[in-house]
Amino acid sequence: MKNNMHKVLALKYRPKNFKELIAQNIMVETITNSIKIDKLPNAYLLTGIRGVGKTTTARLIAKALNCNKDFLKEENCNCNNCEEIANSKHLDVLEMDAASRTGIDDVRELIDSSKYNPTSAKYKIIILDEVHMLSKQAFNGLLKTLEEPPPHLKFIFATTEVKKIPVTIISRCQRFDLHRVPVQELVKNLKKISDIEKIKISNEALILIAKASEGSVRDSLSLLDRALISQNINKTEINDIFVRKMLGIADKSKILYLLKSIFQGEQKQSIEKLREMINEGIQPANFLNNLLEVIYFIQQKKSLGNFDSELSMSESEEEIINSISKDINITTLIVFWQFILKALDELSIVSNPILSLEMLVVRLLHLKDMPSYENLLDSLKQNNLSSYDENHNLTLELKKQKKNYK
Ligand SMILES: [Zn+2]
Repeated sequence: MKNNMHKVLALKYRPKNFKELIAQNIMVETITNSIKIDKLPNAYLLTGIRGVGKTTTARLIAKALNCNKDFLKEENCNCNNCEEIANSKHLDVLEMDAASRTGIDDVRELIDSSKYNPTSAKYKIIILDEVHMLSKQAFNGLLKTLEEPPPHLKFIFATTEVKKIPVTIISRCQRFDLHRVPVQELVKNLKKISDIEKIKISNEALILIAKASEGSVRDSLSLLDRALISQNINKTEINDIFVRKMLGIADKSKILYLLKSIFQGEQKQSIEKLREMINEGIQPANFLNNLLEVIYFIQQKKSLGNFDSELSMSESEEEIINSISKDINITTLIVFWQFILKALDELSIVSNPILSLEMLVVRLLHLKDMPSYENLLDSLKQNNLSSYDENHNLTLELKKQKKNYK
């Protein structure tokens, strides 16, 4: 293995300047502008899901505030301060994980040390990661310093769970929400890195990795790392079949064929198709989420006449979606959606999730035979309230039906 492969990709390709941060343009613009005109908040609050660049942004802000040169103009500044901050070794930039130091004593210690002037840089900067983990007392201890910090002191808070932070703290910070990175942006980034690293990987495989990362750059790079480790990169290209296996994702067309046979009422065939996917190693939760996605596409096709899918779909897959969407009504789709969601819930309860999947398929097969809500309403109208009894029976059935759908 080559030397440069030893460092994990997420660390190796950590953005070195604001331009390299992916898909956070508005935040970058606001932060850099405030630095340019020297209107700095006392505290920054960075929120967002895991792996979108909160800690990276915190370090970039610290660099921009303490750089000896002009950090915002430099592509890759290597002044003393920037170097030390990048390596978490700067004496004036304290990084603390609030998850491991949550108490009031930790905060007191921090505040005491922050009273002194910075040793070598312009600002003393305290980066508190996972700040929502602080205790109530610890937050209270922070309040006064946050309100009137000494001029040399800046706070940068990062959190995945902003709702757990007291409003009194939030209102004293300038808040920035880091967004989930769209699939296309993730693919672009993965492609760029694969090219630099000379990794042979197909575009379909990159799309699958990007989709599985749910908007997190770090997750996407970790998955690329995993794909690299599992496959000898010099010999064969990493393709979508390999990544599907690695992630436990079923082939979309297989899910479509399964759904088709469910709609056609082919019980034996449906179960066989499901078992085939299970044998190939699909993860139950992934399977159900893929099923939901397909239902969503059919719904889109039905209501809007077309669908926009971030994952490129083959012609034959589109054809199946078209043919299913013609024969199915929206109510059935909604009920399918509910049942699949329920099955997802069940996964955490049952000891053998595979059984849940089979039972779900059986349930869906029988749902298809039930008269739809619309059909019942129609027959109600057609009967034109001919006799009370008949009508009463229908109403009862309608109620039963509604109850089943819940
Ligand atoms: Zn610098």
